[in-house]
Amino acid sequence: MTTTAQQTEAAAAVTTWLAGFSAALAANDPARAAALFTEDCFWRDLISFTWNFRTFEGRAEITRMLEATLSRVQPAGWTVTDGEEPAETGGITEAWINFETSAGRGHGHLRLRGGQCWTLLTTLYELKGYEEPKGLRRPMGAEHGANRDRTTWLEDREYERKKLGITEQPYVLIVGGGQAGIGLAARLRQLSVPTIVIDKRARPGEVWRSRYKSLCLHDPVWYDHMPYLKFPDNWPVFSPKDKIADWLESYTKVMELNYWPSTEATSASYDEASQEWTVNVERDGQAVVLRPKQLVLATGMSGKPNIPSFPGMDKFRGDQHHSSAHPGPDAYRGKRCVVIGSNNSAFDICGALWESGADVTMVQRSSTHIVRSATLMDIGLSALYSEQAVDSGITTEKADLIFASIPYRIMHLFQIPLYDQMRERDKDFYDRLEKAGFDHDWGDDGSGLFMKYLRRGSGYYIDVGSADLVANGDVKLARGQVDHLTEDAVVLTDGTALPADLVVYATGYTSMNGWAADLISTEVADKVGKCWGLGSDTTKDPGPWEGEQRNMWKPTQQEALWFTGGNLHQSRHYSLFLGLQLKARQVGIPTPVYGLQEVHHLS
Ligand SMILES: Cc1cc2nc3c(=O)[nH]c(=O)nc-3n(C[C@H](O)[C@H](O)[C@H](O)COP(=O)(O)OP(=O)(O)OC[C@H]3O[C@@H](n4cnc5c(N)ncnc54)[C@H](O)[C@@H]3O)c2cc1C
Repeated sequence: MTTTAQQTEAAAAVTTWLAGFSAALAANDPARAAALFTEDCFWRDLISFTWNFRTFEGRAEITRMLEATLSRVQPAGWTVTDGEEPAETGGITEAWINFETSAGRGHGHLRLRGGQCWTLLTTLYELKGYEEPKGLRRPMGAEHGANRDRTTWLEDREYERKKLGITEQPYVLIVGGGQAGIGLAARLRQLSVPTIVIDKRARPGEVWRSRYKSLCLHDPVWYDHMPYLKFPDNWPVFSPKDKIADWLESYTKVMELNYWPSTEATSASYDEASQEWTVNVERDGQAVVLRPKQLVLATGMSGKPNIPSFPGMDKFRGDQHHSSAHPGPDAYRGKRCVVIGSNNSAFDICGALWESGADVTMVQRSSTHIVRSATLMDIGLSALYSEQAVDSGITTEKADLIFASIPYRIMHLFQIPLYDQMRERDKDFYDRLEKAGFDHDWGDDGSGLFMKYLRRGSGYYIDVGSADLVANGDVKLARGQVDHLTEDAVVLTDGTALPADLVVYATGYTSMNGWAADLISTEVADKVGKCWGLGSDTTKDPGPWEGEQRNMWKPTQQEALWFTGGNLHQSRHYSLFLGLQLKARQVGIPTPVYGLQEVHHLS
């Protein structure tokens, strides 16, 4: 328990450090500022100093960054956030801080060790002169008084709808109207950036509706809020997919988005001279040309199916489809179903097929990490995203920042002890899985699910019941690589033939720069390189170390081309910084990018 004396000491340590840091920055002395950090320090910046997402490791990298940015950024006003007492645990003092730059205002988080800074997070949350109209600045809505030229809210909305994209061009075009696209569009509306979101599907939320019918979100409600509009208190912990789809559809209306359904982007090219995109779209079957200044691909990190090519697929007589096209089990009662893959979608689909009375075999080709949902909630998530966390003052926004404050380079060290606890708690479960011949792993370094997600975006299952079906043999398990298909079977390389009426390829998704190849060109896709991953040199995340996720929410090697996506937490949190980067460009605030990411991998 923290005593008052400890609190006073922690507050004093933070005040002393901030005073020294602030003085070094004001004196334009990068080396002096860097000397206030531990030798093994990290400084993660989300656009406030760098107009980029960058994590600096060690004093030398910090010095170099400050030398390049300090005179422009002019940081000042470093204070402890009101109402947030610094606290010390296990030799680490943590504090929430505020600061300003020449362009905007920032929040940050600090960890001190022995009076020096071990980790620093700096984030910009608003631009000076372009603050969002909320709280005390909220719009009046009604215009009191007498005005012969009065227009209503509805008339204004209709006027905007008629003109944007027709007689006036949007500044930003977002291709993809899933949660990532509409969350960003909501931010941009609040920032008064003319934006259109297009989606080839007929209704917002349609991606979720189209997924296999048993799907419920794997992450709990506290993790899933959209920007501005939180789920109500009676919302279920795990939202059924069609319910989330309806929420997203309502969101586009309530947040007053310019959403064009049934509109597909077919090609795009960038003109360096005019600094403008030409995007050809088909809107309700009609060709329309849009000319935005900025193009955002929100086309889905789990959107471009990775469909394997096995000899004999053309000969197979039954049904075969990728997991993203799997309709659910209804048509397969009593049928022989082979699901290739052993991650989330594979387990969910196997479970639903088994429940409907199908004969199901899962083909495991490589090892998978499984963690039980209840265990993950208790040990992995509850400190930040739970009713208890909310009750103890950890709002969603605060939880997002706490998560962001842990540098990716050392995040696994925070995660490993949690997964050790999970391993202990569910020992019987893992023993049973192993006995059934399931190849289970905990990630290359034992750091579990979140690290796998951040590094490779795959390789795990959050167990909501289907793992037991594999462990007890109700869902049969076949291990090995697929060699070929025959007219009625999947044949593995060891010669095992698995008779099948249905084959589901639960084989994952490809990198988002594949969307850029489809829409723009292979040259541009290669120029920006692989999306996602940290360069951790673990399975499916080749080095070199990047420090941040490749290409996501930050400038890419292609001017005016951006990517957003990921899970609900990431889309919500990082859309703020992507929105501010776009707003700054729209209003001409200089945005020199420090340390633009280099390309090491094409896909
Ligand atoms: C089975 C499954 C379960 C998941 N469960 C969870 C979960 O529990 N919690 C969580 O946080 N995340 C989950 N995710 C991950 C992620 O949240 C979802 O994939 C989510 O749909 C991603 O949203 P998005 O907006 O980035 O992309 P998407 O929802 O994929 O939306 C992309 C949109 O782009 C459109 N589009 C593509 N190309 C074009 C074009 N050329 N022109 C116009 N429109 C185009 C598509 O029609 C689509 O609507 C899950 C993913 C899958 C596959």
